[in-house]
Amino acid sequence: MKNNPLKSERTRLILTLELAVVLPAAALVILGALHLHSIERDRGVEAAIQRDFNQVLVISEKQFNHRAYELADDAKADFPSAENACGPSLDRVLAAHPYLAHVFFFDPDHGLIFRSQGYRANDSAFQMEADDLHKIIDGWTKVEYDGWTHEIGEAQSKGMPYMFFMNSAPRGGKQFMAQPVAVFLQTTKMGKQAIAGLAFDADYFHDKFLPETLNGIMAHTLAESSQEKNPPVMMIHTYSDWTPLVASAGWDDGEPEVERHLEGAMRGLTLAIKLRGTTLKAIGDRFVRTSFLTLGALSLVLAGGLVLTHRNVAKEMALARLKSDFVSNVSHELRTPLSLIRLYAETLEMGRVNSQEKVQEYYQIIRKESERLTALINNILDFSRIEAGRKEYDFRDTDLGELVRATLDSYRYQIEQNGFTFEEKIARDVPHMKVDREAMARSLLNLVNNALKYSQDARYIGVNLYRDNGSVKLEVIDHGIGIAHGEQSKIFEKFYRVGDPLVHNTKGSGLGLSLVKHIVTAHGGDVLVDSSPGQGSKFTIELPVGNAEQAGNVAVM
Ligand code: ADP
Repeated sequence: MKNNPLKSERTRLILTLELAVVLPAAALVILGALHLHSIERDRGVEAAIQRDFNQVLVISEKQFNHRAYELADDAKADFPSAENACGPSLDRVLAAHPYLAHVFFFDPDHGLIFRSQGYRANDSAFQMEADDLHKIIDGWTKVEYDGWTHEIGEAQSKGMPYMFFMNSAPRGGKQFMAQPVAVFLQTTKMGKQAIAGLAFDADYFHDKFLPETLNGIMAHTLAESSQEKNPPVMMIHTYSDWTPLVASAGWDDGEPEVERHLEGAMRGLTLAIKLRGTTLKAIGDRFVRTSFLTLGALSLVLAGGLVLTHRNVAKEMALARLKSDFVSNVSHELRTPLSLIRLYAETLEMGRVNSQEKVQEYYQIIRKESERLTALINNILDFSRIEAGRKEYDFRDTDLGELVRATLDSYRYQIEQNGFTFEEKIARDVPHMKVDREAMARSLLNLVNNALKYSQDARYIGVNLYRDNGSVKLEVIDHGIGIAHGEQSKIFEKFYRVGDPLVHNTKGSGLGLSLVKHIVTAHGGDVLVDSSPGQGSKFTIELPVGNAEQAGNVAVM
């Protein structure tokens, strides 16, 4: 079997296309889909936001504590030393720090001093709170003194100056308010440890401390995200009750996404965070959905690109095949007339032909064959000029009827000799037009020549020239083999020849019609074909009247 170089070239191209484009593209799409799938499965987007939220909560907890410690430090600085601890000195601490509700001092030798804020002496709920806390502290200090001093001492050695606990301050009925109480150690002159403590005012804590600190956090830590469509929002509730004690602006009824049980001064409270107006799940789902859609669109574009590339490659391959056919067709077409010319010239040269009639016949053959050669070479030259963009047309005012008649005259004899019935109808009202005469004559000859070549038994050629409204039509009609519908648009492409065996047996370069098309287009017209297999064909050159005025004198295509 012969190794067809075009076939292997095609295989190579298709392989390259597959290896260089299809496989990487497919791999990319598959990897993208797998990646998205894993994000979806592991709820990756939600997890990432949750991690961020956790960090925000940790930072916020520090800020709450920092503020509470500052307040406690301020008060602690004013605390009397262990020797000077007495009711009035503690009252002074309360007076200087109105955010405190109660302070106390206990050393085992002198017992407990417990003082409450004087300006709230008339508030019965506050009095109840003071009594309750007094009792609690009294009981604890008696029982827990050793444990506490040990525990607070340990905490202090770790850099935590206070031990906090959250008191529930009664506010009538079943209502309670969170009240942080800080306890710390004071050392007496005798080296003994006294327990001092301060309780934040519960109203101050709820109405000022919590909202102000939370707003500060929102304004600083979360400032960047506040402009987003669904900004993060936070709230604080107690461990046991989900009702917000305090919430940032925009907190809605949705469930918190991440929560943190707070420690230190905030012990007993929970800080919660979520996105306003949406949930992490909705965001994750939306991300995955849009990503899948984008991936789908991308895959479509890729597939479209691949189809286009494949079509281009196929087109190039077809052109390469046509070109190689062209070379062998043209060589064949050149060789036949040349060998005929040589054969008859040699015969004449040898003087062996006796009858004058024969001599005349041989001369005619030589002339006809050289005309065929000239026509072919002219076609090829024209074609190469067009391909190089150097083809120029010389438009001149022309009597088209005269041009057609003169062109056909030199051909009529040959047509009739081939046994063709020849009909020529040239209307009188065809106007003068600006055309490139040589190019027009060549177009007509190409069409007539095709009619000659592609006719079998029904040997008829008709040429009509007439005016049809705004255009002039030149028709070349035959009753030959015809052209299948599917082929009719392709025959005007360069090198294209119909794959029919009837065509294959006829010599041709596949250039004729592409030249006709080019010439007619340069004249602002069009060439049409009307044909059916076995019935014959009609080629029509349609030129608009007043064409070449617009086309100018010289057209370079
Ligand atoms: P060529 O005749 O040199 O092959 P053309 O460009 O003139 O090239 O024609 C292209 C193809 O169109 C031909 O190969 C033939 O298959 C088809 N064709 C052209 N004219 C006719 C016609 N009159 N009848 C049937 N087929 C035709």
